[in-house]
Amino acid sequence: MDYEVVVIGGGPGGYVCAIRCAQLGLRTALIERDALGGTCLNRGCVPTKALYSATKLVRQAATAGEMGIAFGPAKIELPRLAAWKDGVVSTLVDGIETLLGKNGVAFFGAGGCLDGPGRVALSTGETLSAERIVLATGSTPIEIPGFSFEDPLVWSSDDALALSEIPERLAVIGGGVIGLELATIYNRLGSLVTVVELLPEILPVVDLDRRTVATLKRSLKLQGIDVRTGTAAQSIGTHGGGPEVRIKDGEAIPVDRALVAVGRRPNSAGLGLETVGVEPDRRGFLPVDGTLRTSAEGVYAIGDLVAGPMLAHKASAEGIALAEALAGGEMRSIDHDRIPQAIFTDPEIASVGLSERTAGERGSLVGRFSYAALGKALGMREPDGFFQVVADGDDHRLLGVQIVGAEASDLISEAAIAVQNGLTLEAIADAIHPHPTLPEGLKEAAENALGRAIHTVNR
Ligand code: FAD
Repeated sequence: MDYEVVVIGGGPGGYVCAIRCAQLGLRTALIERDALGGTCLNRGCVPTKALYSATKLVRQAATAGEMGIAFGPAKIELPRLAAWKDGVVSTLVDGIETLLGKNGVAFFGAGGCLDGPGRVALSTGETLSAERIVLATGSTPIEIPGFSFEDPLVWSSDDALALSEIPERLAVIGGGVIGLELATIYNRLGSLVTVVELLPEILPVVDLDRRTVATLKRSLKLQGIDVRTGTAAQSIGTHGGGPEVRIKDGEAIPVDRALVAVGRRPNSAGLGLETVGVEPDRRGFLPVDGTLRTSAEGVYAIGDLVAGPMLAHKASAEGIALAEALAGGEMRSIDHDRIPQAIFTDPEIASVGLSERTAGERGSLVGRFSYAALGKALGMREPDGFFQVVADGDDHRLLGVQIVGAEASDLISEAAIAVQNGLTLEAIADAIHPHPTLPEGLKEAAENALGRAIHTVNR
């Protein structure tokens, strides 16, 4: 055998799995046909968040005059912004290459596919033999009828992140996480943005309470983002006056580009699955058991290629759990309901565990605390949003937390520790939090659920 483990796909699922396997003493190879870091580093989490942070300055500078510090109008130098974002990405990608080397992972820059049990064929012509093979090939943007990615008017998220231009008018088809994050970025860059969502509500696949979504929707409107829900985008074409996106009832939205962000499909085609007898489900995901094993002996799958939230930290958690099991340890189970999620809109939304709606009667203890009552938030001029905790009415264990407001993406980790470890409202409420900070909002929300918050009226 050439290797004890061969991992195909170098995204946050695959490279993390490979490094952990090697740390545990397994002879490991990683195969990646494009750039190390996968979607997350190159076309996903990292470039979006670099642009999210950079463009936040536009909003802050435009209103800083209220605090007595005024700036002139923002001047956006697109090539420099793109180069800066690319620099962040390449620093991280280079870091992965170094980590692979230092941990003794053999790296092959090639395409890879299964070639029968225990064999992986590379696009270079080589064949590797392996005791165990981990498939971590990720996912790709979905195209919809009437909007071909071949059409220069149509962007995928990959195109939007290339930052080639700032369209005067941008239609974002899909009001999910990726669509709304990119809508936020382009709105800040100066595009007139319309979001078109087929379903009755934005963020339809995230377990969020109505009041959380309503807070975001109000804010999107104030920012000048036009959100049309319950609206099907039918096609894009040029008519007389210029390009337009046709929606239901013959209405059309004039646009310069349409960004299609309606979801992603797993990269399971062309992987040689038939050579080991594995069949994807009808949406292309690979069915796996509780140990992340496919129906074939010795073949495993993780990340966006298998069911569950399409998130980088979910892919990495699966990669680590699998590596430890392959090295002889016990398989750590990963509860999809307790994986935190952060949405980088304005305001940010972050959640972990169950919403009030999903928790139902079990979550009878609910507490909230508003950003407007936090000294730190007022000093930051970020008074919009709230913290919400939902806990079990009997034992007070925290079932779920939602935060909508500034820095929610960073604030959710304390809640994630609590939810993942079955901590109670009292554990959060009794822990002394530093003042004045935003996390005090979580403590006060827990106190509010217990009827003893100091800085809000308890109900
Ligand atoms: P991927 O990251 O897709 O990596 C798979 C890798 O496999 C790719 O590099 C691919 O080139 C390689 N590959 C495929 N086939 C082969 C083959 N046959 N041979 C060799 N290599 C192959 N998630 C978050 O958690 N937070 C965020 O803020 C966030 N923001 C996002 C923003 C955008 C715009 C997008 C598109 C996604 C975002 N995501 C975010 C989702 C996140 O990027 C994915 O969930 C994550 O990258 C999945 O990791 P993975 O390892 O399963 O797959």
